[in-house]
Amino acid sequence: MRAGFGIRLTKSLYFAKVAVMFEEITKIVGREEGTTSIVLVGVHGDEKCGVEALEKILPNLEIERGTVLFGYGNPQAIEANKRYTEANLNRVFNSDDLLTTKEKESYEYRRAQFLKTYLDKAEALLDIHASSIPNSRAFVICEANAKEIVKFFPINLVVSGFDKVEPGGTDYYMNSIGKAGICLECGYMKDPESAKIAEESIFAFLKARGHMTNNLVPQKQTYVQMFKKYFAKTDKFTLSKPFENFEALEENQLIGIDGQEEVKTSKRSLILFAHNGIKVGDEVFLLGEEKESLV
Ligand SMILES: [Zn+2]
Repeated sequence: MRAGFGIRLTKSLYFAKVAVMFEEITKIVGREEGTTSIVLVGVHGDEKCGVEALEKILPNLEIERGTVLFGYGNPQAIEANKRYTEANLNRVFNSDDLLTTKEKESYEYRRAQFLKTYLDKAEALLDIHASSIPNSRAFVICEANAKEIVKFFPINLVVSGFDKVEPGGTDYYMNSIGKAGICLECGYMKDPESAKIAEESIFAFLKARGHMTNNLVPQKQTYVQMFKKYFAKTDKFTLSKPFENFEALEENQLIGIDGQEEVKTSKRSLILFAHNGIKVGDEVFLLGEEKESLV
């Protein structure tokens, strides 16, 4: 059963219509009984790869087994082509006592409560994102509970540990209620390849979850576990140099200067999402390390 996706909209009308048409979730039910999964795109409104992939896939998609929900994470931000309108939607799935008043009064907070009613119905989530940094590498974020799903993704890097260092996302929420949450970073948001990665990964997810016949073979993947997130202690955190995502750092390597203080690694690490900070509490980098398996 499908709702809302029969009509192919012209490009100019498309995003204007998204907010009106896709407040609700599209549900596709297979002929045979089975589990329920959910796919979200546009949780960050300017990360269009998932939106494009979904527009391409949905009109002709047939599900053999179970139920799949497809949803637009943040329709207002998608329409405005912005990461978010009032608060970062991918942080407000945290428990209420950890959110600020501003976050709790935001459009995104209300949207998160709406999305939770659908996340609660599913056993597994695929949430599709992209990076604003050119040449970013594609990777999957999940915990060990999603191991049997992500091994079929066309992605060679799987990162865990985000629930601890960066809670509050859709995948965090799913894991917190005993379901499997997967966040996919498709690389640079303006690279056409990102939509292709999103599309292939949606199919891999549907196949691994048993909604379609699985003809895929498991991929060879590298595992990284995040262990630290650094928040700026001053209003001037300056990186020692620009770092690429997953760039390898030696023990005791200088990462940046926080006010007057040198910030260095405590052990060999891989750095992620490194940028300068301009206020106390800015999230300026994450550190992880390579692991033998998904832990
Ligand atoms: Zn994102």
